[in-house]
Amino acid sequence: MTTQKKPASSRNRRSQSYNRPTSKRPAGARPGQRPSGARRRSIQRKSRYYRRRRQKILLLAGISAVILLLLSTVFLVRSCKSKQKEVKDVNSDKNVSMVISDENTIAGKAASPTAAPPSPVSLTVSVVGDCTLGTDENFDYSTSLNAYFENNGPEYFFRNVKSIFESDDLTIANNEGTFTTSTQREDKQFAFKADPAFAKIYSSSSVEAVNTANNHSSDYGEQSFTDTMNALDQEGVVHFGYDETQVMEIKGVKVGLVGIYELRDHLERTQQLKDNIAKVKKEGAQLVIVIFHWGNEKETVPDSNQMTLGRLAIDEGADLVCGHHPHVLQGIETYKGKNIVYSLGNFCFGGNSYPSDMDSMIFQQTFTIDENGVKEDNVTNVIPCSISSDYGYNNYQPTPATGDEKTRIQNKIDERSSWIPAPGQN
Ligand SMILES: [Zn+2]
Repeated sequence: MTTQKKPASSRNRRSQSYNRPTSKRPAGARPGQRPSGARRRSIQRKSRYYRRRRQKILLLAGISAVILLLLSTVFLVRSCKSKQKEVKDVNSDKNVSMVISDENTIAGKAASPTAAPPSPVSLTVSVVGDCTLGTDENFDYSTSLNAYFENNGPEYFFRNVKSIFESDDLTIANNEGTFTTSTQREDKQFAFKADPAFAKIYSSSSVEAVNTANNHSSDYGEQSFTDTMNALDQEGVVHFGYDETQVMEIKGVKVGLVGIYELRDHLERTQQLKDNIAKVKKEGAQLVIVIFHWGNEKETVPDSNQMTLGRLAIDEGADLVCGHHPHVLQGIETYKGKNIVYSLGNFCFGGNSYPSDMDSMIFQQTFTIDENGVKEDNVTNVIPCSISSDYGYNNYQPTPATGDEKTRIQNKIDERSSWIPAPGQN
């Protein structure tokens, strides 16, 4: 009779699952029979072997999992750090704008108090008048601007306004002269030239862009115009004027620059004005600044052509219009919420070492640009200046006026602004 034996110990049963085939029984042993001592020892040896093997496999799997976990943690930390760095770089740079907004959206976090606001962007532009950075060969050299350059170097000229230019986002001047070594002087009353190195006057003092459309841009022929452009390029100074327009990207905002020479053709420049504004807008300009070289020398009130073209520029999409050529200050008009500064006067002017009128200004406007365009908040800052830091003669060092002088020049600008006829009355 076959008695039902207790099953082998669980250890043996488990070990049997590895120990295949099980058919190899010792001779004479029957199925279900308890294994002999030798057999049991063999099974125990084998089960120890398999237990160790299994422990090894489990250990290896554990180590692999820990390594994987470590690797992914390192990767995560590194990618977080690089994202933070991107945002930091963008903040510390001039390129604020929408980039931060996107980063924050992607990261799914609110802008931290230390991060610059993603939008709107605030952009301060300074504009100054005639910079005739050269001399006429018929002038007394010893008192000429060129002699001051030779004695004092390029940084002398804007020393007293440099901090203002450095703290804005864009400084625009009217470059009224040539940087050339050409000797082919045009046959005219005044012709201005300086060595191409004089372009450093701008680059050393944070003047980023200049208008070149004026009546002294080719005083030494076509070659002198080309030489001037090359000298400006050499110093990284952006130039625009005539058919050359520019779109600068500042703090992520595209700023369109248009320069129109009005003196010869007057209202016949209408089409060029429209075309150039349309061109920069097509190139993505969000803020459009139009510079005119126009008007009449010594005239304190703009003529009808200035008013017609200035207002038309705004009708066509300009956000700011500034002009020069009269050599004296004219008033400022706010038309449809935008400013027309009719004449900024001289600024750094090598054309006269004893001018009777040395009043000037830096016209500043801070624009706020968001996804809807330029805000109509009209934040302006007129800085009355003298073209010289000395009384009585021109030392070619424009300087902000102080005290009574500042008040006098400010009152002059206000008074001349009141003289500008309203649209429809000129
Ligand atoms: Zn001029």
